[in-house]
Amino acid sequence: MRQIQFIFRNEDSLDEDLRRIRQWQDSHLYSTMLFHVFTSKNDRELIDHICGRIRSALPEAMFVGCSVFGSIHQGDFINAPVTISCTFFEYATTRVEVLQYPLNQENQQEVAESLVHAVAEREWVAGVEMLTTIRGMSMTTLCDGLSEMREDVRIFGGGALCDDINGQETCVFSHVGGYSGHGVVFVLLGGEDLHLEVSFITGWKPLGANLHVTSAEGSVLKELNHKPAYETYYKYLHIENNEDFFLNTLEFPFFYHYHDIDIMRAPVTCNPDGSLVMTSDMNSGVEARIAYGDPWTILDATQDEASRLLPLVPECIFIFSCAGRRTFWGDNEAGKETLAYQAVAPTSGFYTSGEFLRTGKYLNQHNVTQVIAAMREGNPKLVERKTIGKPHKGFRGRVSIINRMATFIKATTEELEELNGQLSQMALIDGLTGLYNRREIQRRISEKIEYRKQDDLYLIMMDLDHFKQVNDRYGHNTGDEVLIAASSVLKPAYEILPEDGDAGRWGGEEFMVITPAADDAAAVELADAIRNAVAGLELEGPGHVTASLGVTKVLPDESADAAANRVDQALYEAKEGGRNRVVFRAS
Ligand code: GH3
Ligand code: MG
Ligand code: MG
Repeated sequence: MRQIQFIFRNEDSLDEDLRRIRQWQDSHLYSTMLFHVFTSKNDRELIDHICGRIRSALPEAMFVGCSVFGSIHQGDFINAPVTISCTFFEYATTRVEVLQYPLNQENQQEVAESLVHAVAEREWVAGVEMLTTIRGMSMTTLCDGLSEMREDVRIFGGGALCDDINGQETCVFSHVGGYSGHGVVFVLLGGEDLHLEVSFITGWKPLGANLHVTSAEGSVLKELNHKPAYETYYKYLHIENNEDFFLNTLEFPFFYHYHDIDIMRAPVTCNPDGSLVMTSDMNSGVEARIAYGDPWTILDATQDEASRLLPLVPECIFIFSCAGRRTFWGDNEAGKETLAYQAVAPTSGFYTSGEFLRTGKYLNQHNVTQVIAAMREGNPKLVERKTIGKPHKGFRGRVSIINRMATFIKATTEELEELNGQLSQMALIDGLTGLYNRREIQRRISEKIEYRKQDDLYLIMMDLDHFKQVNDRYGHNTGDEVLIAASSVLKPAYEILPEDGDAGRWGGEEFMVITPAADDAAAVELADAIRNAVAGLELEGPGHVTASLGVTKVLPDESADAAANRVDQALYEAKEGGRNRVVFRAS
C-alpha cells in the first residue's frame, strides 16, 4: 500500500499532481487505486470539476469524498479548501468496492439492511469506511441497523460538515453515485493480505461523580439527577449560558456510558428550560460524567495511541476527528494531536460532525473523539523492525497542574462516595445484629402496606424469653452473642423468610418481620419455623434459648401502627400463655 497526498490549489496543480500519479502508477504494480477528496466548501461545481479531472486522467481509479470542517494532511491540520489522497493497494488479493446510497431520516433502516446484505454476500469484506451526511438527522437508526452486520467487520468513518461549524449544507460523493447533498458512501475493504486496526481515543478524562441521566429525548438532554441538565454546568463549573457556552462546555463535555464504552457528548446550546441540545442522541437511564480536556493529557493519549499502532507497521492511517477538537485547540495548534500518527505512517483525514466506530457488535456515533483506522497490506510480523519509526515522546514526564487537580478531585470524590455509602448503610442497619434498624423496618412496613400487591401481608413479632436472665447469668457480652445468633435465623442466608420478607430489630431483644403469606395458617407456620430455629440454636453460655411470637394479618386500609399494635398484643398473649409459642390474632 502506498499513499500520495496533495493539496488542490488550482486546475494546473491538480493536472500536474494527477500526472505524477499516472507516472507512478505506470511504473508500479498495484491492484486498486482509491482517492479520498475532502473539501471544506460544499461547492458542487468545484467537486464535479475535480472528480471529472480524476476520472479523465485515471479512468480506473475509484474516488470518494465529502465536505469537511478542515482536513488532516500529512498528519497536520491544514486550512486548505481541498485535500486529496491517493491510496494504491499493491496486493492482488486486496479488494475495494464503493457503494453509495441516498440517505434521509426515513430510509436509514432500509440503507442499513441493504449494506448488511451486501456485506453478507461479500465474505472478503473486513472493514467498511463510512462517509455520510448527518446534519439535521438522528443517526441512531442507521447505527443500530449497521450493528447487525457480520460481527468481524470493522466499521469506521465520519459525518460530513463544511467550513462553518454550524453549517447544515453538506455533501458526500463518489465515482459510483456522484454528488449527493443527502447521502452515504461506503468503502468496502478486505482481502486476506489487508490488515486493519481501528480504534478511538478522546484524551479527555472523567472528573467527579456519576450523574444519572434521568431524562433525555433524542439529542436533548433534559435532566441529570432529576434537575435541569444546565444546572450541572452552572453549579460545578459556573459556565454561563451566553454566546461562549459551546466553547466553554467543549472543555467539559460528558462521558456517557453506552454499549459498554464511554462515548462523549458535548452540549451545543442551552434551552430556556435548562435542557441541553447535545451533539447527538443520548439515552435516559444511563450514567454520565463530566470530562475535562487538558492539552497535555490529550497529547499524551495520542502519543500512546500512535505507539500502540507501531506493531501493526501501518502503511497509512485515516483519522476522523471531531470538529470540536479543532475548535478546542484552535487552528494554530490543532495539528499537535495528529502529528504523532504521521511518525508512524502517512496520515490523512478530516474534521467531522460525528465520528463513527464499531466497538464489539455496536456501531456508535461518537463526538469530541478521534477515530483512527490504520491499515497495511502483508503480514506486519515480516517487516524488519529496524525500519519502524517511533512517535517522539517530547511530552513524557510532564503532568500538567490541571491533570493533577483532576486526579485530586477524582480521588477525593471516590473517598466521599465510599464514605457516603457507608453512612447511608449505617443509617439503615442495626449495628449489633446487621438486621434493619427500627426506623428502616418501620419505613419498609409502611412502604409495603402502601404499595401492597395481591399478596396478603403479615407481621410477625418475636421476643426472646427470659432474656434478662441470660444477661444476669452469663454477662452482657454473651447476651449480645445470643442476640446475634437469634437474629441470624431472620436473615436471607437462613432461608426461613421468603425472599420478599423483611426483618428488623424492633428494640432490645424484640424483632419484627413483614412478609407476604398465602393465608393465616401459612403465616403461623412460618412463625413456628422461626420459633423452632431459635430453639434449635446451640449457644455458648445458656446452651439454648426460646422465643415467643405474635402473628397478625395487615387488614385492608389499615395503618402500619394499628397492625403493629395488634401483633404486639398477640406477642403479649404468647408470653402470658407460657412462652416458647406462637399466637395469631385476627383482629
Ligand atoms: P420475657 O420472657 O418476658 O421477654 O423476659 P425478658 O427477660 O426477655 O424481658 P425483659 O424485657 O425483662 O428483659 C429484656 C432484656 O434484654 C433487658 C435488657 O438488659 C436486655 N437487652 C436489651 N438490649 C440488649 C442488648 O443489646 N444486649 C444485651 N446483652 N442485652 C440486651
Ligand atoms: Mg424478652
Ligand atoms: Mg422484650
